[in-house]
Amino acid sequence: MILPIVAFGDPVLRKVAKDITPDYPNLDTLLENMFETMYNAYGVGLAAPQVGLPIRLFMIDATGFAEDEELDEEQRKQLEGMKKVFINAKIIERNGEPWVFNEGCLSIPDIREDVFRPESIKIEYMDENFEKHVEEYDGLAARVIQHEYDHIEGILFTDKLSALKRRLLKGRLTNISRGRIKVDYKMRFPDAKKMR
Ligand SMILES: [Zn+2]
Repeated sequence: MILPIVAFGDPVLRKVAKDITPDYPNLDTLLENMFETMYNAYGVGLAAPQVGLPIRLFMIDATGFAEDEELDEEQRKQLEGMKKVFINAKIIERNGEPWVFNEGCLSIPDIREDVFRPESIKIEYMDENFEKHVEEYDGLAARVIQHEYDHIEGILFTDKLSALKRRLLKGRLTNISRGRIKVDYKMRFPDAKKMR
């Protein structure tokens, strides 16, 4: 089932999300629905707050990047395995020189901006079977994970832009909150009513 994606401006996107336990109700169905929702919107990642749930859960599927011939062999190999569910994740280390990448977000349609993030991370998380992993990622994989991880910390990529850039985007962000935007997937807009 495709779930509506929560748009910029919804308070759920600003919450520090809470850990869940293995008895979280209908977790399998939720994961299935979130994957379906993510693929339907052509996203490479989706976090639970984006479907209205303030829980520490996100998923990524960055396997499509593995085809990118501009990346080196090691990067492409890492990306091939990058269809994963992260539960109760905690980034325990961030390393390396920050580098820039043009990011977008399913909750902020039509806006793409250059964002700096550290090159590599070490992350502790549970998979969908609640088995614990501690893994290190770099490059694009680390990039996508950090973007989704920010969602469970209540942070959006627009927060990382300069004050000037944020000011320039203000009107467009307000329009997104109000639903004054064309988007080809299902969304829920926090301030849609104020339009009428
Ligand atoms: Zn996002």
